[in-house]
Amino acid sequence: MLLPALSISPPRLGKIGAMDTKTFFIPTRVAYGAGSFAQLGGLCAPLGTRPFIVTGRRSARESGLLDRVLAVFPEAVVFDEVEENPGVAVCARGGERCRAAACDFVLALGGGSPMDAAKAVAVLARQDAPGSALFSAPAGEGDVLPLAAVATTSGTGSEVTPYSVLLDPDTGMKRTLRGPGLFPRVAVVDPELTMSMPAAVTAATGLDALSQAMEGMVSRTATPVGDALALEACTLARRWLPVAVHEPANLEARSGMSLAALLSGMVIAHSGTTVVHGMGYYYTLEFGLAHGLANALLFPPVFAFNAFAVPERVGRIAVALGFCAVPPPAPEALARLVYDGLIGTLREAGVAPDAASHGVSEADAIRFAKDIAKDPYRFRNQPGTLDGETLCALFLSSVRGEFPCL
Ligand code: NAP
Repeated sequence: MLLPALSISPPRLGKIGAMDTKTFFIPTRVAYGAGSFAQLGGLCAPLGTRPFIVTGRRSARESGLLDRVLAVFPEAVVFDEVEENPGVAVCARGGERCRAAACDFVLALGGGSPMDAAKAVAVLARQDAPGSALFSAPAGEGDVLPLAAVATTSGTGSEVTPYSVLLDPDTGMKRTLRGPGLFPRVAVVDPELTMSMPAAVTAATGLDALSQAMEGMVSRTATPVGDALALEACTLARRWLPVAVHEPANLEARSGMSLAALLSGMVIAHSGTTVVHGMGYYYTLEFGLAHGLANALLFPPVFAFNAFAVPERVGRIAVALGFCAVPPPAPEALARLVYDGLIGTLREAGVAPDAASHGVSEADAIRFAKDIAKDPYRFRNQPGTLDGETLCALFLSSVRGEFPCL
C-alpha cells in the first residue's frame, strides 16, 4: 500500500552560499587502509608512552591484537571489561583505574562499545562525575585525557565523532555524552583488523555504517561536505557489505567497509542521526539486538517515509545505492523502490528483514511508538512530521517486514 500525502514541514537543509556558512571540524589524525596499524606508535608519540587501553572482554585478546598493541606500548595498563552497549558503571570503574594508573592518554581498542567507553573514561580520568552527572560533565578539549582509537569493527565511525553513547542507569535509556574533547586525537582504521569479525557482526556493523550515511543525508542538519561523504559511504556499503559478509577474508571488501564506516562517522559528527537510531534503541535495550541490526530493521520503512518528506535527498541516496538511475522517480514510486532495495540489502547481508523474526511483537511495536512519541527530542533531526500514528505505522512495518501502511 502506498503512503498517503503527509503533512510535511520543510527540512532545514540549507544552501551553499555567502549567507549560509557551515563548519566542518574533524581534529583527528586518521591512518587508514590495509597495514595502517603499523603507524600507531608514531602517531601516538606526541601523546606519551603509557596508554590506558580500554577494550572489550574477548575479541582483541583472541585475535592477538591486544598483544600487538602491548608490543608497541610495553608500559600500557589494560582495562578489558567493556561489554556491548556499555553503561556508566563500567566507565566509572575504568575512570578510577585510569586516574590511579596515571596514564598519559586513553587508547580505545575495539568497536563502538570500547571506543565510547574509552571516551567516558578519558573524561572521568580528569574530573569526578558520579553516575548520570557524567552526561553534563564538560567535554572540551582541556577537560579530557587525550584519546587515540583503533577501530576493529566497520560500523560506528566513533573514532571520528565527538560522541559517547552510553546506557544511563537512571532512565534505562541510551544517552549521548558529547563535546569536542571526545574526538580522538589519533585514529587507526586498518581493514586487516576487521577480518576476524564473524558474519553477523560484519553485517550488523556494516548496516550501521549504511544507516548513519543515509540518516546523515536526510538530517535537518545535513551539510554539503557531509552529503558528499554520505553518498560515497552508501555506494561503498552497497558494493562491499555482501562480499565482506560472505567472504570474510576478502581484503578489498573489508577495506571498502572500513572506509564506508569512517566516512559515515564523519557525516554524523556533523549531522547527527535521525529517528532510525531513536527507534532502534528499543530493539537493543529490550531484545538485546546488536545496535546496527536494530537500525537496519527500521531503515526500510523510515526511508519509505523519507521519500515523501525529502524526495530529492532520498532520490540521491537511491542513485548512490544503485537502486535507480538519474532522474529518480516521483515520491510514491521512490518510496517503494527504496523500501524494496533496502529489504534486499538486508537479505544480501544475511539478515531476516522483519523484526518479528528477531523476537519483536506487534504489541511491543505499539508500546515503543507511544513511548518515543512523548520525546520529540529523540528525533529532532528527522525531516517530515512524525506523529504517534506515523511512528506506530513505521514500527509495525518493521515488525511485519511489510511496506508501511500509514
Ligand atoms: P561493539 O559493541 O563494539 O562490538 C560488537 C561485538 O563484536 C562484540 O562482541 C565485540 O567483542 C566483537 N568484535 C569487535 N571487533 C571484532 C573483531 N575485529 N573480530 C571479532 N569480534 C569483534 O559493536 P559496534 O557496532 O562497533 O558498536 C556499537 C556501539 O557503538 C553501540 O553502543 C552504539 O550505541 C555505539 N555507537 C557510537 C557512535 C558514536 O559516534 N560514538 C556511533 C554509532 C554507534 P568484544 O566485546 O570482545 O570486543
